Amino acid sequence: MLGKHGWIWTFAALMLEAVILNGLQQLNLRLSGENSRNRAVFQAGEQYIAEEMKCFPIPIAYRDRISYEDTYGAYRDNGSHEGCDLMDRENAPGEIPVISAADGVVTNVGWLYLGGWRVGITSAHGVYYYYAHLDSYAAGLAAGKEIKAGELLGFMGNSGEGEEGTKGRFATHLHFGLYMRDGEGNEKSIPPYSYLLEAERE
Ligand SMILES: [Zn+2]
Repeated sequence: MLGKHGWIWTFAALMLEAVILNGLQQLNLRLSGENSRNRAVFQAGEQYIAEEMKCFPIPIAYRDRISYEDTYGAYRDNGSHEGCDLMDRENAPGEIPVISAADGVVTNVGWLYLGGWRVGITSAHGVYYYYAHLDSYAAGLAAGKEIKAGELLGFMGNSGEGEEGTKGRFATHLHFGLYMRDGEGNEKSIPPYSYLLEAERE
C-alpha cells in the first residue's frame, strides 16, 4: 500500500510536521513573552500617569471654551490617531493657554511636519507628554528646561501638516498625546482620554 519508499516519506512528513509545530510553539512563546513584557510597561506607565498628571492641560478659566471626546485611534489620513484633540469652540488660534499636565523636562520643542509647533515633556518616570499644533510658545521655553505641572507652555493653535510655519489647515485645537517606551525602547502611545477626564475633575 505504501510502496517501496512509502515508510520513508511518511517518516519525513512526520518529522517535518514536528519541526513546524515546534517552530510555531517557539514563536508563540516568544510573542506572548513580548506581549506580557509590553503589557507590564504599559501598566507601569498607566500607574505613573495617574500619579503624575496633576493638571488638565487647559486652565480652568478656559474650560468652557473647549470640547473634547475620545478621538484616540480615530482614522486619520496619516494613520490611527495617537492622542486626544481638545477643540477651541471659537476656533481662534493664539488665545487659549496650554499648560503642562505634569512635572518634567522639555525634551523636544520646535516644528514637526504633522505636529506643527510642538512641545514634548518627559517626566521623571519616562512618560512623554506631547502637545501639538501650538500657535506660539511661552517665553523661555527651550529643550532642557524643567517644567512644573500647571506651567504655561504656549497657546493653542492650528499649526502643522506642512512645512515650517504652516497654519490653518484644520480647526484650532490642542493635540495631546502620551507615550511610554517598552523594554526594547520602542515608543508606544497610551490613550489619554481617561486621564484627561480624571485631571479635569481635580
Ligand atoms: Zn490630534
